[in-house]
Amino acid sequence: MTEEKKSIGFVSLGCPKALVDSERILTQLRTDGYEVVPTYNDADVVVVNTCGFIDDAKRESLDAIGEAMRENGKVIVTGCMGNEADRIRAEHPGVLSVTGAHAYEEVVGAVHDFIPTVKDHNPHLDLIPPQGVKLTPRHYAYLKISEGCNHRCSFCIIPSLRGDLVSRPIGDVMDEAERLVNAGVQELLVISQDTSAYGVDIKYRTGFWQGRPIKTNMQELCEALGSMGIWVRLHYVYPYPHVDKVIPLMADGLILPYLDIPFQHGSPSVLKAMKRPAHAEKALERIHKWRSICPDITLRSTFITGFPGETDKDFEILLDFIKEAQLDRVGCFTYSPVEGAKANDLADHVPAHIAQERQAAFMALQAEISAQKLQNKIGQTMEILIDEVDEEGAIGRSKADAPEIDGMVYLNGETELMPGDLVTAKIFQADEHDLWAELAHPES
Ligand code: SF4
Repeated sequence: MTEEKKSIGFVSLGCPKALVDSERILTQLRTDGYEVVPTYNDADVVVVNTCGFIDDAKRESLDAIGEAMRENGKVIVTGCMGNEADRIRAEHPGVLSVTGAHAYEEVVGAVHDFIPTVKDHNPHLDLIPPQGVKLTPRHYAYLKISEGCNHRCSFCIIPSLRGDLVSRPIGDVMDEAERLVNAGVQELLVISQDTSAYGVDIKYRTGFWQGRPIKTNMQELCEALGSMGIWVRLHYVYPYPHVDKVIPLMADGLILPYLDIPFQHGSPSVLKAMKRPAHAEKALERIHKWRSICPDITLRSTFITGFPGETDKDFEILLDFIKEAQLDRVGCFTYSPVEGAKANDLADHVPAHIAQERQAAFMALQAEISAQKLQNKIGQTMEILIDEVDEEGAIGRSKADAPEIDGMVYLNGETELMPGDLVTAKIFQADEHDLWAELAHPES
């Protein structure tokens, strides 16, 4: 007898790292014969991949579980917030199962337990793409190179959720990159908790790709990815001295001239209290050096105002830092205590209204810097990767813009383009976030 094919609803919350976990779980479920459906009604069970990074994210996760319970009633919970099973069960006693971050086998096992898969499933007949199930558009993909983190930043509970650093073998990472490129991916976004630490846990072991030896470290990874002829963008890099070695690869056009470096602060005493990786490195000197090697480099970062112990003086140092650093893209959050984080025990918590005032002052200053940097691009001709096309035109990104977090380039009226097209365009307008451009046609 043939059983009916069972269907999964999937809700994916949180950062790109969690998105990659969702892709991996969905790939396995599809391989096992489950269908993935877009509505609660059609699903036999709903999997919610949660985020537990800060209290707001936890609230959002609990609300998403609540919605899935109301709309469907059969809910399996996984992801970072899964480590707080008691809290989840207290609020939603009916959930079928709760597992923690990157517990792939457990969550897939729970689905099999509650809605057994069809017995006559043939994985070769169900079309699972070789690159696996992807939740990003076809032309870009996240490439996760490691799990966990060896640092212990005092505001962060990721290491307790996801454990110490475990680097993926470089051969596996490169094989995945190759499958993605063969499937049409034009841009790979390298992610992890700390990309600069890649390989440190396995002593930069030598692996193999295409029969060639290749060391498990950031530089050799970048060289190998850079040989594939696509855009390669680095996220979550810390300003260690060895990062200097990848800047020439950017200058040579092998990988994108883009670094996402979460500095979090500019004052040494706050960075020390945060226990930030590379807090003793001279970040401004590094930035100047990188720009001397690769003048086009785009630097993105995030900062926190109102960290416990942050004084007016520390905040002034932070403002001086961003004035001098002239970063291109910046996010700024007010400090918010996370349950279980060491920073909760620090003295001199900053009142919320002061943290907010500082955040507003910080963002006002940075908005001027970002706006000026974008104004400087008017008149330049650059490559644009198209993300979306609608009846008004095409929307894309330049090499300086990561998807979801940075700006857009609008090509009004270009309705004939397709997502994934790489075009050359001339910038004619800018605001503090986005650019407007027209296709550059060769001189006749
Ligand atoms: S580097 Fe710090 S903030 Fe980032 S995951 Fe590790 S401990 Fe958390």
